[in-house]
Amino acid sequence: MTDVAWAVDWVRRSAQVVAEHREELIELDRQIGDGDHGENLNRGFKAVVAKLDALEAAPETVGDVLKLVATTLMSTVGGAAGPLYGTAYLRASKAAATPELDSAGVVATLEAALEGIVARGKATTGEKTMVDAWTPAVEAAVARADAGGTPAEVLAAAADAATQGAQATIPLQATKGRASYLGERSVGHLDPGARSTELILHAAAEAAA
Ligand code: ADP
Ligand code: MG
Repeated sequence: MTDVAWAVDWVRRSAQVVAEHREELIELDRQIGDGDHGENLNRGFKAVVAKLDALEAAPETVGDVLKLVATTLMSTVGGAAGPLYGTAYLRASKAAATPELDSAGVVATLEAALEGIVARGKATTGEKTMVDAWTPAVEAAVARADAGGTPAEVLAAAADAATQGAQATIPLQATKGRASYLGERSVGHLDPGARSTELILHAAAEAAA
């Protein structure tokens, strides 16, 4: 069930997986950026979990949970990823202003997240950013929902597509963000934001499974 408890579980699993992959994300960002991605995201999600733990009343909607993530990431994660993920979760929270999401609701939430990232960062596919993981994820989610998939199946399809999309950033040359400063030397590396997107979407699918 993709309800409030799922949303809370998704956030906790995201924090867990980001903590487990902190070093890897740092190393990926060290190769084509400044090496802060893993540290920033880990700090942000730890702060989110602390806020969840301190809540006195249970959130009423999925959107309430996602809004807490948005505001916390915006204030604790620096660099490009803070505002990008912050805007993603903020837009997603508005699309998820209900106690439970059906498959169409899951799709609308993921679409809103991607729209937020694009609105903020102005990247399109093929520029070696998290957009290259989010875009196929949303496309796969739409297709699975149209085929009658359950919310869990929709999220699983999105997560698998994000993995493919992240892997597909390796041969790309970055034309947005810090990695673009490297020009052709950005080729041959996995984009850290696409990798963290993949991890976060797998956390969503696992929470729903
Ligand atoms: P910074 O580059 O400021 O150090 P992070 O290291 O936290 O920020 O995040 C880097 C990631 O942000 C990149 O791997 C990429 O996926 C993503 N990114 C950077 N610029 C953009 C953009 N304009 N649009 C979408 N994603 C972007
Ligand atoms: Mg960085």
